[in-house]
Amino acid sequence: MSKIYKCDNCGSTNTYVKKHQYNFIVKDIPIKVMSDTRFCKNCDSIVEDEILENHALKQAYQIYNEKYGISPHDIINLRKRYGFTQELFSKIIGCARKTLISYENGSSIPNDNFYIILKMLLNDPSMINNLVLANEKSLTPKDLSTIKEKLGNIPNNLILMSFFDNSNNLTDINGYTKFNINKVEDLISLITSTSISKTKVLKEMFYSDFLSYKNTGECITGLEYVKYPFGPVPNNYEILLQYLFEKDIIDIKVRYFNDKEFVSIVAKKKPTNKHLTKEQLRIINDIKDFFKNYNAEEISEYSHQEKGYKETKPREKISYKYASDIDLK
Ligand SMILES: [Zn+2]
Repeated sequence: MSKIYKCDNCGSTNTYVKKHQYNFIVKDIPIKVMSDTRFCKNCDSIVEDEILENHALKQAYQIYNEKYGISPHDIINLRKRYGFTQELFSKIIGCARKTLISYENGSSIPNDNFYIILKMLLNDPSMINNLVLANEKSLTPKDLSTIKEKLGNIPNNLILMSFFDNSNNLTDINGYTKFNINKVEDLISLITSTSISKTKVLKEMFYSDFLSYKNTGECITGLEYVKYPFGPVPNNYEILLQYLFEKDIIDIKVRYFNDKEFVSIVAKKKPTNKHLTKEQLRIINDIKDFFKNYNAEEISEYSHQEKGYKETKPREKISYKYASDIDLK
């Protein structure tokens, strides 16, 4: 038995289907669709038919997606590229599973929030790591181990560069210097040639880069520095340290003492310094020498007096223009 359709206007159940133009508004944009529509044979009014109307709406979404958005095909491909199930992918991007399914089968289109998230992932797949961190609370230990296993397929280097590559945006924030991971590796290997506290490593990196900028007009690494409560630190330094740890360049040791956490870092290989210029090497060694007898708190305290630190708002980036005010004495 097929469904009986009844005309709201005259009550007739004698209906037929023909092509007709629908005018939808999808996210404020008018979309016209020619699609099958049910009409009353008696009075020629449109008769409600959910199946045909959904079909037309899907076409409208499809037109919208092709012109302005992300297609269901893009979303499915994106998810499969990571090797995630719908369940896991929906948790990572922070939507309900049935919402993701509706995006993937084209029965709805991503709202602004998910539109931005999906576009971001399409442009830069490594951003998935940030989403995993942001939605960590909704992930089980099993989810996390699956994610780790699947994401292991994305080269580390790609992830790193997505955070640090500045080649399209050389400004006073990165000392007009291209990010150079080889120099970062040499710099950190040299600073940590004997075990030192993490706080001290981050400060000595700041001083090395800023002093190099002051003396040569270029910083060493191209890293950006942010004002943290305990002093200036490289932006996204946790990601950087994790990368160096995974590459076996440094070892990170965590100890607890009176409930306080102490993190120290030590290079796993002798520094080769082959990517540093003589001048850069001299600057780094001078910095090491200058702070040789400072502990973490003292160097932190010292860095709080820098003009660049004082004049920058919390969590904001410190301009290299302040490098000229650095004067170690
Ligand atoms: Zn009718």
